[in-house]
Formats: sequence, structure tokens, C-alpha cells
Amino acid sequence: MELHRALKYNHPMIEVEKLTKIYSSSRSKRTAVDDVSFSVPKGEFFALLGPNGAGKTTTISILATILSPTSGEVRVDGIDVRKDPHLVRQKIGVIFQDPSLDDRLSAFENMEFHGRLYGMPREVRSRRSEFLLNMVELWDRRNDLVRTFSGGMRRRLEIARGLMHFPQLLILDEPTIGLDPKTRRSLWEYIHRARREWTMTILLTTHYLEEADGADRVAIMDQGRFVALDTPAALKKSLGPEVIILETPEENRDSLRKHLVGRYGPSLEIHDEGEGRISFPLPSHERSSVQLIRELPGTILSVTVRTPHLDDVFIQLTGRGMVPTDEGTAPFHRVYRGKL
Ligand code: ATP
Repeated sequence: MELHRALKYNHPMIEVEKLTKIYSSSRSKRTAVDDVSFSVPKGEFFALLGPNGAGKTTTISILATILSPTSGEVRVDGIDVRKDPHLVRQKIGVIFQDPSLDDRLSAFENMEFHGRLYGMPREVRSRRSEFLLNMVELWDRRNDLVRTFSGGMRRRLEIARGLMHFPQLLILDEPTIGLDPKTRRSLWEYIHRARREWTMTILLTTHYLEEADGADRVAIMDQGRFVALDTPAALKKSLGPEVIILETPEENRDSLRKHLVGRYGPSLEIHDEGEGRISFPLPSHERSSVQLIRELPGTILSVTVRTPHLDDVFIQLTGRGMVPTDEGTAPFHRVYRGKL
């Protein structure tokens, strides 16, 4: 019945309706995912962005059939994850935060083993392994034991292995955490190359704002709930055109805050950036930042005006910062320095 449904209707790749997951033990009860609904069309690159403990891993573990939901409906390619987990697993490739390679086997053996698990014929396995190991630049190291690989090489191999059986949905849980920027970039190149090769939906969880920025749509998750879901451009646009960052000496901070709240009202979300700097989105009724900057009280050591990024959206929605951004993440476009 489920298969029939999947074949008959052009449904989304992911359908989640009123999903709730409660972890219960004799000691405590914790709602990790709280009444979440969303759907992801085929071929979309969808990102879940949120701080530690937001419920991202729990959500994707349910999609990957590793955990079962407490309540709600979850379908992958029209197939109910509870009713037909086996069929769902055939369709997905998963790359989890924790490494899952067998480090006593070689790179090639890991690929082979995975292919066999998925019932791929020997001929197809060999061709596929060669193609993917070449893609992640590990073909020359195919016969080396994984135990001799660096962290970046292991991650590359995990990506290759996750793509081995042509998954229609690739689930990536913080795939580039702890990797240097160059390796992160090349991993994304491999994933996008694979995506061009065949239609593949991507579900990503990440802390890296620039990775979420590359997605077609982003859901911002906090405390088990979605607080926003839209394209990165629309999410950022909702804040207005500019975010202002002001650096002031300690003694001027209170009067500056008072000035801003007096000017824009108590709903202005002022974020403490540390090291004497505060930031806030410039309200859309303020025509330009120039007027504001001219009228700021007291000593201002520096003013930075930049376009909003996803972290600002998170702050606006939750009143808290999400994660420190990487150096260079924020697209700064104007900096004024000196006393104003
Ligand atoms: P991170 O970015 O740190 O991986 P996350 O957004 O993926 O965080 P989850 O790992 O899904 O968040 O955790 C959501 C909540 O559920 C957290 O409060 C966490 O402590 C709790 N949790 C996760 N796994 C379990 C478990 N096995 N038993 C009890 N509570 C759990």
C-alpha cells in the first residue's frame, strides 16, 4: 500500500506532520522535538539550523529510521518510516556526526561492504567505488587501512560511502564539524557534484551559517520547535537591509542603549557582541544609517554596517545568539572608525 502510494503520487521527498519526540526515563522526561511539521520537495537542499540541543539530530534520526517518533507522521518518498523502515533505508544515505567507518578495513573494503549491504551487484560496486573514491581524491589510498587516515580523509570517505548506493535523500548531520575551511569547501564540492549527477534531496544540520546560507530553504530550530522556515534571502530580508554594530567604552554603553530604545522603541533587539560591541538590525523606517550615526550620543569607537546574516535572524526570533560565526562569515561592507 505504502509503495503503491509512493509510486502513484508525486509527493515531496520528506513529509513531517506534527512530529513530537519525548525522551523518557525513570528520572526525567525531555521533549526534544515539539510538534514540528515541514515538507521538502524532491531535489531541494534543506538545512536545519539551530544551537546545541535544538532537536536537529533527533529530527533527522527519526527520518533515518534510527529513532521512532513519540507521535506524528513522517514519510520519506511517500513511505512511512514506522511502517516500512527497510524501504526508507534503501532510499537514504546518512552521514552522522560520529564517525561510523570500520577503521580495521581499507577505504575500498568499506565501500565494498556498504555496497553489499545494499545488495549492489559486484560489477556496479566496483565501478561505483572507483568513481566515488576518485571524486573524493582517495583512489590512490584505496588499499590503506582507514585507521591510518586523517580526520579530513575519513570524512571524505564517509561522504563517498554515503553516496555509494545512489541515495535519493542524503542526510548530513554536521558533516563538516571540526574540519578546516579548505576541506569543508572541498566536501561541499563533492556533494554538489554528486547532486548534479542525479536528482538528490539534501537534508543538512549545521552550525555553520555559510553552509545554511547555501541551502534552498532553511528551518531555524530552537528548543524543539521551528521558529522560522524560508529561503535564506527571505529570512535575512525580514530584518531589513542593515545590521549596525557599535563599539563604545563601558561608561557610554547604558546611555547608548537608552538612546536606541528611545529612538526605535522597546522591541528593538540589541545584542551584546562582547568586547564593548553591541549590534541591532536597523529598523526599516530609518531611511539610512548615516542619520543615526550622526546623532549617536557619547564616544563611539567604531561603527560597522553590514548586511544581515542568519545568526541575526536567530537573535531576532529568540533573543539569544546562536553560535559564534567563523571569521569572515559576515559580509561587512562599510566600516567607520574613530570618534563620532
Ligand atoms: P547538537 O547540535 O548539539 O547535536 P541537536 O540540535 O542535534 O544538538 P538533539 O541532539 O536532537 O539536538 O537533542 C535535543 C534534546 O534532546 C537535547 O536537550 C538533548 O539533551 C536531548 N536528548 C538527545 N538525545 C537524548 C537521549 N538519548 N536521551 C535523553 N535526552 C536526549
